[in-house]
Amino acid sequence: MTNTKPIDCFAGYYRCPEGYLVVESRRALNGRKGYFRFGGEATCYGALNGEDPAKTPGETLYDARDRVEFENGVVCLPFDPLEVIENLRTEAYTNQSHPEAFSLVAALYYLIRPCLPVGVRKHLQRSRLRGWEQLSFPSWPVDHSVESLLEQLLLLALKAAGVERMPFIWFWPEGHSSCAIMTHDVEEAKGRDFCDILMDIDDSFGLKSSFQVVPEKRYTVTPEFLESIRQRQFEIAVHDLNHDGRLYKNYEQFLQQAEKINAYGTQYKADGFRAGVLYRNQQWYDALKFSYDMSVPNSARLDPQRGGCCTVMPYFVGNLLEIPVTMMQDYTLFNILNRYSIDVWREQTKIVMAKHGLMSFIIHPDFIIGLRERKVYESLLEYLAGLRQDHGVWITTPGEVNRWWRQRARMMLVEGRSGWEIEGLGKERARVAYASEQGGRLMLALEDRAPVSAAKKEAT
Ligand SMILES: [Zn+2]
Repeated sequence: MTNTKPIDCFAGYYRCPEGYLVVESRRALNGRKGYFRFGGEATCYGALNGEDPAKTPGETLYDARDRVEFENGVVCLPFDPLEVIENLRTEAYTNQSHPEAFSLVAALYYLIRPCLPVGVRKHLQRSRLRGWEQLSFPSWPVDHSVESLLEQLLLLALKAAGVERMPFIWFWPEGHSSCAIMTHDVEEAKGRDFCDILMDIDDSFGLKSSFQVVPEKRYTVTPEFLESIRQRQFEIAVHDLNHDGRLYKNYEQFLQQAEKINAYGTQYKADGFRAGVLYRNQQWYDALKFSYDMSVPNSARLDPQRGGCCTVMPYFVGNLLEIPVTMMQDYTLFNILNRYSIDVWREQTKIVMAKHGLMSFIIHPDFIIGLRERKVYESLLEYLAGLRQDHGVWITTPGEVNRWWRQRARMMLVEGRSGWEIEGLGKERARVAYASEQGGRLMLALEDRAPVSAAKKEAT
């Protein structure tokens, strides 16, 4: 039996008028979920009509683009794109019942970790991550399957409907090309004691960041310490409860710990949360009474819990805004890859900027105290300042991203006398933009500006 329905997969992401363009989905009800692809760059996970999707992403994947049909000005798909996007963002493709986070080995590792010298820890982590380069999905160093799928569907929908361009609300305020945020997870007492110097460093590059503070066990958190961050207009978020790597181990325990975490959120006046080690289970997020979370990596090949949300944009999980981690962590760069340059970050920013997405960094105060590491961090800040100056990147804080993304989600695009107009709180910062096709590519352009390719605009 096949389910056919028109689907507006664009309005949520692009904030175009609802129902402006739709696609039609014809997918088998209760079909087995699996992997397939859509064109060259989008890996999909979901049910597929007429074909059996692959069980693993490493197999040769069926290209569902070959099965697209056009009927009465509508694109007909053998799958539901909203279901696929949801499956990618919430990591429904990973085997949630046995993530590595809950394994005995991981539990044991966490138990003995404080007793291990750093050299042994690094060695254990490296051997645990062996083979990461051979993984086929999510893509490395950035996965943008969600963006690529939507871009291709939009191209097809414009063509099918014979519409020249689709108006939408630009992704970032004041027409900024993309966005970058800096976050600092404070791991131990030495990191806490380095925060003041780190704020000086960030300030010297004109950047405000967010400090994630562990409330219990790791170090003492005084009101004075929190105030010293707030006073300088930096942000505070809650980082786990006690960072023992067991937050998501079982649901009952998680609920109890979430209650404590929520209370610390109120006490710290923090709107944001990040779990230790980027452990997560997005299905449980409604227990977290925060405005935003920052625990989901884009492509978690080098993290203890693998998976990734395959998008370079924030997205909502219920009422919680997920601000994903799209850039490699400093710890991974220095200790797993053994690199002391910003090359990987440059590569990642290029990919994210080509999608007008969000670059979100985790730099630990604990790991950049050394001069060599600090130099690398300063080169990164210099690079980001250059992107702000020359490429119009919005460098801001997670709290600001959260405020903007919520406002944008409530704005409406309406047709006024002199064209499309934006209505809603914050509209003076928002910009009307258009998506159109040129030479087979999707072009995105702010009103009154020359269009740029959705896929080819590169930073230097
Ligand atoms: Zn941490």
